[in-house]
Amino acid sequence: MLHYLKKSLKDYNSFQLDVTADELIILSEVNEVISEVKRLTAHKRNFVILGGGSNVLFSADYNGTVLINRLKGVSVITEPDGDFLITVSSGEDWDAFVQTAVENGWYGLENLSLIPGTVGASPIQNIGAYGQEAGNFIHSVTYLDLLSKEIITLNKESCRFGYRNSIFKQELKGRFFIISVTFRLQKRFTPVLNYADLANRFKRKETSDISAQEVRNSVIEIRRSKLPDPKEIGNAGSFFKNPEIRLSEFNVLKEKFPEIPGFIKGDWVKVPAGWLIQETGWRGKRYKNTGTYQKQALVLINYGSAAPEELIELKNLIKKDVLDKFSLELEEEVNIIEPDFG
Ligand code: NAP
Repeated sequence: MLHYLKKSLKDYNSFQLDVTADELIILSEVNEVISEVKRLTAHKRNFVILGGGSNVLFSADYNGTVLINRLKGVSVITEPDGDFLITVSSGEDWDAFVQTAVENGWYGLENLSLIPGTVGASPIQNIGAYGQEAGNFIHSVTYLDLLSKEIITLNKESCRFGYRNSIFKQELKGRFFIISVTFRLQKRFTPVLNYADLANRFKRKETSDISAQEVRNSVIEIRRSKLPDPKEIGNAGSFFKNPEIRLSEFNVLKEKFPEIPGFIKGDWVKVPAGWLIQETGWRGKRYKNTGTYQKQALVLINYGSAAPEELIELKNLIKKDVLDKFSLELEEEVNIIEPDFG
């Protein structure tokens, strides 16, 4: 366990905002997690838990304790049907785990390559990309309940995975420290290539000739070509969720904006938030020391010395312009951390 007072969080949030936490503690053992959570709650101190810090925006200095999750370890059980149950400690790096899975022939997570952050963050917003979601492969999640201080395991159904959503963003919000995630991965590889960017790369190949490593490599190349590397340009990936609206509402919008893209799921249509933002003129535009990324307007960036309030102002300006133009309310995907609230 490492302990710091008045520590800059610049290296602990992918926006690279230079905010300060009163206290920062790096945890690498489950018993440290339990004892620190007990100590902090006994003293009624605000605290916030970070993995990779890749989905957070600190709105100011944080007047509490930041717990950094560095729990490590991977264990594997082969199921009678040949599939694998893999329990991964929550502080493992997500993409390193996806690479380990591909190398070992544990299949299913390839499309989720290069997503920043830790394994423990994956169930919270049910991370997804290129038509695949972590929740499709999660068998169970084990967490420390911050109120009862009990260790609880939820099976997949109880996690109630939805589109970038789970029980951890709903009833359990703010009540858990995820300790480990168990995945059920497949011994047989089946490529999922229904997204155009990925499909185009494999259109001349037979499905049976495609390997998991090739799909992973392609996803990595596509992401690198479209998204800024948070080590170089501070960002937190997609800042907003793609709005899901009623088909009837979408049809009204389509009359006014014939180019508007939409992906239909039953009575609902998912509208790419990046397109809405770009149509308001924000793509690649700079605001003070912030802006949106030229190649993907859904990604807000820190040009290097942005203050938290500049990013808050930017996201509010974007939300207002999208609302004024399309009557659609963008919702943040990134977690905004207020100074007095964990
Ligand atoms: P894109 O190809 O420009 O497409 C824009 C949006 O349209 C995506 O967000 C995606 O929704 C949706 N979409 C595209 N093809 C679709 C299809 N065949 N069926 C249903 N929906 C479709 O997207 P992009 O920005 O390059 O991102 C590619 C993938 O990586 C997406 O899945 C995206 O979610 C994921 N990604 C996630 C983050 C993050 O921080 N969470 C950051 C970057 C990229 P979905 O988002 O529902 O897939």
